[in-house]
Amino acid sequence: MLYQNPVFIPGPTNIPEVIRKACDMPTLDHRSNQFKDILHPAREGVRRILKSQQAEVLLLTASGTGGWETAITNTLSAGDRVVIARNGMFSHRWIDMCERHGLAVTVIETPWGEGLPADRYEEVLRKDEQHEIKAVLATHNETATGVVSDIQAIRAAMTAAKHPALLMVDGVSSIGSMDFRFDEWEVDIAVTGSQKGFMLPVGLAIVGFSPKAIAAVETANLPRTYFDIRDMLKSYASGGYPYTPAVGLMNGLKVACDILLEEGLDNVFHRHRHIADGVRAAIEAWGLELCAKQPEWYSNTVSAIRTPAGFDATKIVTHAADVYHVAFGVGLGEVAGKVFRIGHLGSLSDVMALSGIATAEMCMRDLGLDIPLGKGVAAAQEVYRQPAELENRDAA
Ligand SMILES: *Cc1c(COP(=O)(O)O)cnc(C)c1O
Repeated sequence: MLYQNPVFIPGPTNIPEVIRKACDMPTLDHRSNQFKDILHPAREGVRRILKSQQAEVLLLTASGTGGWETAITNTLSAGDRVVIARNGMFSHRWIDMCERHGLAVTVIETPWGEGLPADRYEEVLRKDEQHEIKAVLATHNETATGVVSDIQAIRAAMTAAKHPALLMVDGVSSIGSMDFRFDEWEVDIAVTGSQKGFMLPVGLAIVGFSPKAIAAVETANLPRTYFDIRDMLKSYASGGYPYTPAVGLMNGLKVACDILLEEGLDNVFHRHRHIADGVRAAIEAWGLELCAKQPEWYSNTVSAIRTPAGFDATKIVTHAADVYHVAFGVGLGEVAGKVFRIGHLGSLSDVMALSGIATAEMCMRDLGLDIPLGKGVAAAQEVYRQPAELENRDAA
């Protein structure tokens, strides 16, 4: 079986050849100096992508979910209050994790398809005069609904309420593909994973801690062993790792950061916006709607597309996989069967996106939806074509 087609799931994402090769390395003694030369540049690369001068970057053998657990268990104690909005499946899962750890969770129920309501966060925080809330949790990009939220507005809500809680942000499907400003937004903990914007196989939880978050570790009493960042930081200080590290993935991470920084973060973000604009033009040409209700919430890394009422959206995903060997994302939770998702993050170009749009079109047509072939593709092509540059080249 040859896997030639790109995937259009919002993680795991396509892995560039050069990154795959960087992960594929002979065994190396992680207690040797060679390991230091992988660990430190990888952490430094992530810190730069987070746009932070001061974050301590932790690389843990886990997926993004392990990053959530690292964030809460290292900084919170049993019974601590936290506040978090639920606007999709991923925020829901983080809430579930907090509850299972015995935290008192104030959930701000938010319609799926909307962004995080900063005003309601502010309301909750203002009422908490005793400062019982220890952490504010926010999902930067809700991968289930294709909704991006304004993290700066959440920080502004905390500032307006003069609330000292920690700000923890799930940036799993945004970091490395959409702008994320750890220092400017005064984020205390940022969580991501290797298999989304970093274009790597799954296997690393990547977490940034601010000095304030690090300070909270000493008094936090939630049980933790494997994810205790004190062991991590102590080992990092001498260039080591407290257990056997996923060296190949870390080497891949170092290369992935180099690639992103070499392209330039602004260019990376622009590329994602451009690809997403084409996908959105196609969706409009199909006469379909995004799950995200307002343009301000349109995600540049994933589009969740509502299919007509009575049509099972999951059929598109199954058909695409079985017949065309192309992967799209299914709807999750509340929007299961109502949306299918086109992931457009990580290693992707506009030309690759055209193949995904064309395949989605074939699937919808095969399944009897009234969508003429080529309509969405043409709309995306209009976004992607660059006639001005062609003219310049012809003139030269
Ligand atoms: C993918 C993802 C996660 C983490 O999932 P894992 O499968 O554990 O890596 C968390 N939050 C968001 C928003 C995600 O997209």
